[in-house]
Amino acid sequence: MLWMLVSLFFFWCGFREIRNSLVGAPGYDLPTPVFKPYLVLVLALGVLFAWPPVHTWYFQRFLSAKATELADNHRAIVHCNTTFDTMLDPEMLASGHANPRTGKIGIQHPWCNTLMAYLRHPSRASETELESLDMLTHESMHVRGEMNEARTECEAVQRNYRAAKLLGVPDGTAKQNALDYYNIGYQRRGEIGGMQALYYSDQCAPGKAMDEHLADSTWAELESQSDP
Ligand SMILES: [Zn+2]
Repeated sequence: MLWMLVSLFFFWCGFREIRNSLVGAPGYDLPTPVFKPYLVLVLALGVLFAWPPVHTWYFQRFLSAKATELADNHRAIVHCNTTFDTMLDPEMLASGHANPRTGKIGIQHPWCNTLMAYLRHPSRASETELESLDMLTHESMHVRGEMNEARTECEAVQRNYRAAKLLGVPDGTAKQNALDYYNIGYQRRGEIGGMQALYYSDQCAPGKAMDEHLADSTWAELESQSDP
C-alpha cells in the first residue's frame, strides 16, 4: 500500500511536469518546456515503486489458482501478508493459516518471499524453502476441509510432489523436493515433539493407515517397492 502511494506520487510529479509544459504552471503565463531527464526519472521511479505490489498481487492470484486445484476445487484465496499485516494478525506465530469456510489462506511475512525463492531455483532448495512449499499444500488441505493437524499435514506430505509440479517445478526435481521434505522436515517434527508432534503421525508412511494411495503420491514408488 505504501509502495503504491509512493508510486502514485512519482506519477503525479510526471503528470504535473507535462501539464505545466502545455498550460503553464500556476502563476506563470507561459508554459515551461518539459525537462526530459526529470520526466524520465520520475516515471521510472513510479514504475519501480509500483512493481512490488503488482508482483505480489500477481503471485497471490497464481497461488490462489494452484491452492484451489490442490484443494480439489474448493475455492482458495491466498493473501501474502506484509510485515504490518503479520503484526496485526492474531495468528502471527504460525507461518500460515487457512479458513475452510471462506477459503482464505493467510501467509505470513516473509514466507511468500521464501516460496518465490524456492520457485526460482527448485533444484537448490533449502530446507526452509521446502517448508514453504509444504505450507502452501498444508493450508490448501485445510481449505479442502480437513482440520485435524496431523491428518492435514499427512495429506500435504503426499501431495507436495503434485504441488511442486503445479507450481512449475520440473518433474524429477519436484519428486526429489517432496521426498526430501518427507524424509527430513516431516520426520523432524516427530523427533522434536511438543507442538510439532501435533503435525506428525507414525501412520503417515507408505502402506500405513494415513496412506491415501494417490496415483501421484510423493511416495508412490516407495509404496510399490514395499508391496510384495
Ligand atoms: Zn494447519
